[in-house]
Amino acid sequence: IWTECLRVVEKHVNEQSFSTWFKPIIPARIDGSVLTIQVPSQFFYEWLEDNYVEVLKLAIKTILGANGKLEYAVVVDKGNSQNQPYMVSYPQGVNSSAAAKKKENLASAHSPFDLSSLDEQTTLQSNLNSNYTFGSFIEGDCNRLARSAGFAVANKPGITSFNPLMVYGGVGLGKTHLVQAIGNEIKNGPEEKFVLYVSSEKFVNQFMDGIKDGNIKSFTNFYMQVDVLIIDDIQFLAGKGRTQEMFFHIFNHLHQNKKQIIMTSDCAPKDLMGLEDRLLSRFKWGLTADLQMPDFETRIAIIRKKMQSEGIDIPDNVIEYLAYTVDTNVRELEGVMISLIAHASLSRVEISLELAKTIMKNIVKDIETEVSIEFIQKSCAEYYGIKLENLKAKTRKKEIVIARQVAMYFSKEFTNHSLKSIGYHFGGRDHSTVIHAVQAVNDLMETEVSFRNAVLEQKKQFKIRSY
Ligand code: ADP
Ligand code: MG
Repeated sequence: IWTECLRVVEKHVNEQSFSTWFKPIIPARIDGSVLTIQVPSQFFYEWLEDNYVEVLKLAIKTILGANGKLEYAVVVDKGNSQNQPYMVSYPQGVNSSAAAKKKENLASAHSPFDLSSLDEQTTLQSNLNSNYTFGSFIEGDCNRLARSAGFAVANKPGITSFNPLMVYGGVGLGKTHLVQAIGNEIKNGPEEKFVLYVSSEKFVNQFMDGIKDGNIKSFTNFYMQVDVLIIDDIQFLAGKGRTQEMFFHIFNHLHQNKKQIIMTSDCAPKDLMGLEDRLLSRFKWGLTADLQMPDFETRIAIIRKKMQSEGIDIPDNVIEYLAYTVDTNVRELEGVMISLIAHASLSRVEISLELAKTIMKNIVKDIETEVSIEFIQKSCAEYYGIKLENLKAKTRKKEIVIARQVAMYFSKEFTNHSLKSIGYHFGGRDHSTVIHAVQAVNDLMETEVSFRNAVLEQKKQFKIRSY
């Protein structure tokens, strides 16, 4: 019976749509005038309902008569037991009103089978930027796990237990760089592998185009033939159910065939809103590693490396200044460096701390370029883990007293405020309290090495700002 229905359908849809959407259907059972067909997924079912409801209706009525009805059985994916589909009946049938409002043009308005856009890509490169390598990716505590997992994957794609590899972290922390480094490493490796890098945004757009042109098959075929799929910024798939569905199938296919999948996201998988659970649960099969903001030393190394690759020399104090003051993300750090270089070469001056400060003021908002009492207080409160207002309060708790004395000591050393004024800024204390504080800090530095080191460490960041 289903074969007869197909014959009707065939006359009304083009060849491509027919093989994409009707060939995979399996007739499940016939119950009087109700035919149940099995479709591969929920997405598939919705797609049929949205686009082919009229033609299905026509086929059913033609073959089964006016009372003919259609029901769907969807193969439901159950977590990890992918090979055990079971059936669910959907009662909506062909009369679904939601589907009916979207009419499929039976005369077939589809463009002729057109593979050009995806075909180009088969011969096209992997979309990798060759500058993003492991060599140019500076290692630090902030990225050690992600980097070494990435390196392992690059050496044995698809075979390590890091499949999929999921790298997450905030904007500008090196996700794209790292995953492309993996891609480049594999591409330049001994084995012939088809590595493909794609942003999730592009993936979504290609999928949409595929739908529009009736070209889903070539879309999936294209993705299913890659050896290493790198898909960037997966958070972009949030709420895009159909693309997720398609990605899910591609993911399964690749994973089953021991192909490597690498993904990035701007947050931890558990915080990825709008992604289907079954997709998220698959992400956990492999390894999830995060990227943090590089610490001071790593920032210095990153700046050095960049400057070196640009063939530019800048003074150490400028490097330190940049590393200290830009602590948001690496991209911003690079932005400041680029402006600095541009300004210096445009106005034909040397790169100096002076210039760096000016530029910093212009491009990075809220940056403290001068050392004020407020800045010192904020910094000390943070350093000693106490509340800012406690520096000005009456409390005599030991750790607060120490933090307060250190803050006074730095205020004396790094600002032009008088002792009186400093006292005033610390809850209206008098100048003798400030003198006493400075003395106490000096004494403690003599006797306690750890305290001394802490003060010197903290001092660096004031010094760098007060050149
Ligand atoms: P994301 O994709 O996480 O937003 P990117 O990979 O685009 O971040 O990184 C932003 C910039 O910072 C890039 O130019 C990249 O080369 C650089 N970068 C980030 N982390 C490092 C690192 N550890 N070493 C060297 N450069 C880095
Ligand atoms: Mg990125």
